Amino acid sequence: MTSPLNLHGKAPAAASVPAEEQKLVLNILIIGCGIGGLSAAYCLGRAGHKVTILEAASEIGEAGAGIQASVGPNLSRLLIRWGLRDNLDQTAVIPQAITFLRYADGQRVGWTEWGESMEQNHRAPYYHIHRADLLDMLLKLAAPYMTVLLNSRVSSIDPHAAQVTLENGAVLAGDLIIGADGIKSLARTVVVGSPSKPPIPTGYAAYRAIIPTRSMLADPDLKLLVEDAEMKNWMGPGKHIIGYCIRAKTEYNLVMVHPDDRLQESYTAEGSVTKMRADFQDWEPRVQKLLALVSKTLVWPLMYREPLESGWVDGTGHVVFLGDASHAMLPSRAQGCAMAVEDAAVLGVLLSRISRHDQLPTLLHAYQDLRYDRTTETQLAARTNHNIFHLEDGPEQEERDRSMRTAMEAALAREREIRAEDTAGNANVWADKKKSQTQFDYDAELEAEQWCTNHGFSL
Ligand SMILES: Cc1cc2nc3c(=O)[nH]c(=O)nc-3n(C[C@H](O)[C@H](O)[C@H](O)COP(=O)(O)OP(=O)(O)OC[C@H]3O[C@@H](n4cnc5c(N)ncnc54)[C@H](O)[C@@H]3O)c2cc1C
Repeated sequence: MTSPLNLHGKAPAAASVPAEEQKLVLNILIIGCGIGGLSAAYCLGRAGHKVTILEAASEIGEAGAGIQASVGPNLSRLLIRWGLRDNLDQTAVIPQAITFLRYADGQRVGWTEWGESMEQNHRAPYYHIHRADLLDMLLKLAAPYMTVLLNSRVSSIDPHAAQVTLENGAVLAGDLIIGADGIKSLARTVVVGSPSKPPIPTGYAAYRAIIPTRSMLADPDLKLLVEDAEMKNWMGPGKHIIGYCIRAKTEYNLVMVHPDDRLQESYTAEGSVTKMRADFQDWEPRVQKLLALVSKTLVWPLMYREPLESGWVDGTGHVVFLGDASHAMLPSRAQGCAMAVEDAAVLGVLLSRISRHDQLPTLLHAYQDLRYDRTTETQLAARTNHNIFHLEDGPEQEERDRSMRTAMEAALAREREIRAEDTAGNANVWADKKKSQTQFDYDAELEAEQWCTNHGFSL
């Protein structure tokens, strides 16, 4: 069952599958019970496969303090199709706009309307959700289709035998091993064929904190930040702050990116509130008030990976990976979760069509071909945004603000239909119509269905 890596070309041809041919039930081992692993368990279990998740942690859920997840239309489209609309409407918040502000005086330099227009333009809403709530929804969805083994850290993978060995010595075998094991992925090392290079430190970290909105509502200067339900992005030299409501507007989420050269990859290290306040001491008064309300913060060093050029499927066709294991990205495009769930959705559709073992390499390479360019572009866009947000005061920053203002004024005027060519390359990527269409109109399941139709893998 060998197949050459085929990253940029088309998937290797396989014989068509007659509709009446019986579907094959694969025994699938998924490493990692995060957002990617749970989504894959649901999509593959629903497709009729036997799914076991191996998770290193002792419980499923959010480690450390709660954090946010952005659910753009490309992700909400899938979640809604999977029956989660009511859950999303109840627990998540629909941001009404994204607003860009100058750090020192809070002056608004950019604005793009979201709210209902997101659904009108991209056929699905944009939500902000607490990560624990998203994990919980996915867990409930996947529960009927999977077995989860906790305290089960995978210490080695034998791709030829399609086996994994756990830290406790237990050996499990399957037909397919999926690495949904995050930025430090072991599966990635196996697929790459040599010890994987460590993630690249950016020299930045993010303080993360959540404030109860009742304290904000009591302050006339902060009240509007809750009431207008906009996503705010304060941009300053080498730093930016993102703020928005989650949990039916009962909590306000803050992510504060700042220079920090620590190398420890952790989502859960506690940070110093005093240092956090000092790092942003020259920012506008509302920021000072917000930071005064923070009682605890976590620091998350920002790491990224370059797009992996050597492929996502190992030579035996027994190991593949998804989510952060494949394409860990900076948070500045707010698409990390969405890319992981899209990966899972594509795998689910493709593997729902398998009827013979020898089709597996073809379908896995199709998965890679369908996902590589999209996830790479999203990784690169996140890096570009990171740099745009952090410009030093000076001519480049003035040009950025001018560009953002032009789009804002056109959007606020609402006098004419905004043409895609007028917004192309705008410093506010969410104002760029074409880029928004590319990012948000994408339907992962439809893309995979089309591939199946074109390649004779009918249901
Ligand atoms: C605690 C936490 C906080 C995060 N915070 C943010 C944030 O603030 N902003 C943001 O944009 N992104 C954040 N991320 C990343 C974001 O969640 C991911 O981009 C996205 O959810 C894709 O997730 P994933 O399922 O690919 O990987 P992850 O969510 O990282 O999940 C990987 C899972 O694999 C498990 N695992 C790893 N190695 C092994 C092994 N050898 N054996 C068994 N299990 C293993 C881990 O315990 C984990 O549960 C965070 C991730 C985590 C885990």
